[in-house]
Amino acid sequence: MTSKSLHKRMKYDLHNHTHYSPCSSLKPEILLKLAKRKGMNGIAVTDHNSIKGALKVKKLNKDKDFEVIIGDEVRTNYGDVLTYYLQEEIKSRDLFSVIDEVKAQGGLIAVAHPFRISINPTLRFRYPIEKIKNKIDAVECFNARMLFPCDNKKAQKLAKKLDIAGIGGSDAHFKFDVGRAYTIFDGNLRRAIKQNKTSYEGTIFYGPLSGTLSFLRNRIFSKFKSYMGYH
Ligand SMILES: [Zn+2]
Ligand SMILES: [Zn+2]
Repeated sequence: MTSKSLHKRMKYDLHNHTHYSPCSSLKPEILLKLAKRKGMNGIAVTDHNSIKGALKVKKLNKDKDFEVIIGDEVRTNYGDVLTYYLQEEIKSRDLFSVIDEVKAQGGLIAVAHPFRISINPTLRFRYPIEKIKNKIDAVECFNARMLFPCDNKKAQKLAKKLDIAGIGGSDAHFKFDVGRAYTIFDGNLRRAIKQNKTSYEGTIFYGPLSGTLSFLRNRIFSKFKSYMGYH
C-alpha cells in the first residue's frame, strides 16, 4: 500500500453563498443537505462580507465526516477574495489589510474568479498580482458561474505561472448551483493547498442562469436598500 492510498480522495465545493448574501436564496440547512447529496465531503461557506451563514451551516452539521469551513468572500478595493478557516469576520476592505487579518487568524486566502467578465469595470481583473503573489494561498481556477470557459482557463494559467494551488467552487447562490464545481485533493485541504496538490472539476452550464437570477434578486433588494452590486 502506498502512502497515497492511505488518504481519502476528497471533493469540497469551496465557494457557496447562503441567504446571508443579498444575491442568494439558499437557506443554510438546504445548502448543507444538497452538498452532501451531490457527493461533497465538505464545503466552504463564503457569503459576501459575512460569516453569519457559515456559522449557521457549521452549527447545523452533525456529520463528523463532513467538513464545514467558515469563510467569506470579501469585496476588497482590488476585487473579491475568498477566505477560509476564519475565527471571526474580516473587518477591512483594503486588500493588503484583509490578507493580514486572514493570516493573523490562521486562515487561507484565494483570489476569486480573477478573470470574470463583468459589465461593472470595478469588478474586472485588477489584482496587484506581483505584490500579493507570495501572500495568497490559491487561485480560484474553476468557478461554475463563469460565462465563458476561457475565463476559468485564464485563471488556471495564472495559478500555474505563480506555482500556487488551484481551487474550484460552484459560487452557489441557488439550489441548482450547489456542487457544480469543486476542489479535489487527498487527505487534508490545508496541506493540499500549501503543497499545491489540489485539482478541480466543474461545469459552467448553469452559470448564466444563476447570474441572471442574482441580478434580478439584487434589483428587488435595491428597492429596499442601496444597491450593492453583489452577484
Ligand atoms: Zn461568490
Ligand atoms: Zn453573490
